[in-house]
Formats: sequence, C-alpha cells, structure tokens
Amino acid sequence: MKIYIDGSLYDKDDAKVSVFDHGLLYGDGVFEGIRAYNGRVFRLEEHVERFFDSARGILLDFPLSREEAAAAIVDTVRASGLKDAYIRAVLTRGAGDLGLDMRKCKRPTFIIIVDKIALYPEAVYRKGLDLVTSSLRRPAADVLNPAIKSLNYLTSILARAEATRAGAHEAVLLNQQGHVAECTGDNIFMVHGGRLRTPPLWSGILGGITRAVVLDIARGKLGLEAVEDVCTTFDLYRADEVFVTGTGAEVIGAVRIDGRVIGNGLPGPVTQRIVSAFREYANSNGTPVYEAVGAR
Ligand code: PMP
Repeated sequence: MKIYIDGSLYDKDDAKVSVFDHGLLYGDGVFEGIRAYNGRVFRLEEHVERFFDSARGILLDFPLSREEAAAAIVDTVRASGLKDAYIRAVLTRGAGDLGLDMRKCKRPTFIIIVDKIALYPEAVYRKGLDLVTSSLRRPAADVLNPAIKSLNYLTSILARAEATRAGAHEAVLLNQQGHVAECTGDNIFMVHGGRLRTPPLWSGILGGITRAVVLDIARGKLGLEAVEDVCTTFDLYRADEVFVTGTGAEVIGAVRIDGRVIGNGLPGPVTQRIVSAFREYANSNGTPVYEAVGAR
C-alpha cells in the first residue's frame, strides 16, 4: 500500500498529517472513492470532475490542475502495484489554527490512498442486502448539500449504526420532504415491471458515478426503460426488485426493507443482468495504469 501526500509517496505507517488540519478538526474537506479494475482506473475523469466541483462548492482551491490530479491518482495506483484497487482521494483545508477561519489554512492537503476494499462478503452479493429506513434524513441543500462529497459523513455513519443495531446491512435515508433519497454510501434503484426507477439528482442525493453508469448500461446495452422520479418507501416495498449502486459496493441487490420481503427474497433477474453487465463493463473500461495493461 502506498499513500500520496502533497506530491510524495509514503508507506502506511509514515503517512501522517497535522492535528491542526481542518479536515480533522472540522471535517473541512472533500473526497472521492474511486476503483481500479484490471489495471485501469474506472471513470477517472468523472471522479476528478466531481472532486473539483465539490472543492469549488466549499471554496477550496485545488492546488493542482485536473490533469495533474488525475496523473497523481494514476501514479499512486502504479506505485501500489495493484491491478484491482480502491482509491481514496482526499483534499482537506490543510493545517490552520484552532478557529474556523479558513484563511488561516495556508495550503490544502491532498491525500491519495490506494488499498483493497471488500464492503460485503461474497455471500451478501448472492443473497442480497437487508435495509432499514433511517430516522436520520439527508440534509437540505442549503444546510449541507448532499451533492457535495464533503468530509462531513456523520449522518451516514449514524444511519449505518442504526442499521447495524436493527440487524440490517444498510440504511435508506429520506430527504427533507420524506421521499427516498439514497443509502449511506450508495444510490438506490427499484424495478417495477421491468422498468428501472431511481430518485432524481434534485431529490437531495450524491450524483453517484456508478448510478450514472448503471443508467447508461440499462438504457443502452440492456434496452431497459429507466426513469428518475420521486420515490416513497412504499414504492420500495412494492417493487419487484431493489438494488443499490456505489463505487465501494458496486451493484448489489436488496431483498428486505423495513421487514418487507422484496420479490421472492433473492436478488431478481434484472438486478442480476445489471450486476453482470456492470462487472463486464467496469473490467474493460478505464484509464490504463500500466504501460501494457494485462502484462503484469
Ligand atoms: N451516495 C453517497 C452518500 C455516497 O457516499 C456514495 C459513494 N461515494 C454514493 C452515493 C455512490 O456514489 P458513487 O457511485 O460515485 O461511488
């Protein structure tokens, strides 16, 4: 494992940042979770774009150009020697003093961690997730805009803890209007009569890159109808199939929601087609990390 901090590579035990970094003191920063499949970084340009948008959203000037940031990510993956990896890119406000004033933070800290990740054991991909609706809601866009991938993840962390206490894998968060928004680190889809449906971007969600890929694959290769529409928990309960999407989780079926069994209690046929099509696509597309992809 290799960790990039501000232009240098470190081993895990030597990778350190200041305790005065406002990323630590205040959650003042933004991040991206990216994957490399088969020696290629998946959707790198889209992740860098969202990273820069998030930084702009919190008035954080990126110390590098988009091209330089993308190259730093690719170089760090190469230094790790991994072909399949999870990449965490973080940009914090940097070290300041103990006040909130961002002007005291002279230089942002840019961190890239390349490691392996397995969010769920393989059996969960086969059997599907158990979800519960969280008592916590996604914040409104004028509080903490869920479209900004900031370091403030307490809502997700506490919702996830609620799910764990209820014996479930994941939590569904509603927005301020009581409509389904997303899960703690994933977007959510449902299938009604072969038609896909997912909450729209304006419903207070992170614009997931996996979500966008799944919409493209569903409408393109699989020829399915897919709509972005307001959803209620009842729409989830009466769906034929439900699945969630995210860089970490990839595509994974959900088979129980708030005690209701979805479909026949196993990931359904549409979900399975999307899982296979996504895996195939992800394993054959992306920015090459090694000179001759597949040679290592
Ligand atoms: N929603 C939230 C709150 C997330 O943290 C994530 C993971 N980054 C997603 C959705 C899924 O986004 P993506 O597919 O880009 O990983």
